[in-house]
Amino acid sequence: MTIMRDELRTGLGYDSHRTAAGRPLILAGITVPAQVGLLGHSDADVLCHAVMDALLGAAHLGNIGMLFPDTDPANKDADSLMLLRHVAALTAGEGWEIENIDAVIILEQPKLSPYVPAMEQNIATACGIEPCRVSVKPKTNEGMDALGRGEGAAALVSCLLRRRANSLRCSPPLC
Ligand code: MG
Repeated sequence: MTIMRDELRTGLGYDSHRTAAGRPLILAGITVPAQVGLLGHSDADVLCHAVMDALLGAAHLGNIGMLFPDTDPANKDADSLMLLRHVAALTAGEGWEIENIDAVIILEQPKLSPYVPAMEQNIATACGIEPCRVSVKPKTNEGMDALGRGEGAAALVSCLLRRRANSLRCSPPLC
């Protein structure tokens, strides 16, 4: 089926994980030196998880809980950057190109700004796009609520996907 004009879809992803002693803090594949890490069945990469849900939402391909259930032993300590690579391939297989990914990560400590360029590069590489199309913005919660008390981390991600007018849809059509 030939599409007569470009389709644009926005996506929204959110994820959160509790902090835990003795766990690594892995964000977009970067192991950040920290006193506590994040708890999870996989590597608890909250940023990658939110990016995946944004892409899957925009492409109407479900969510990471459906693709990578935490009841599956295969996903134990999974490398979320590799899972993101898989999700990006799924969306590309449906003819979608990623225009941009914009992310906020909320974590009280440590300061994440030194790691932002590497995080953006890792997400871009996993998605097969230029780093200038990925923005990661660290925030604190100003001491408020559970995130402000350092009990966890959260990430919010938006993305924009484009399917060009001359692209061929893989079957079945999405909608
Ligand atoms: Mg998660």
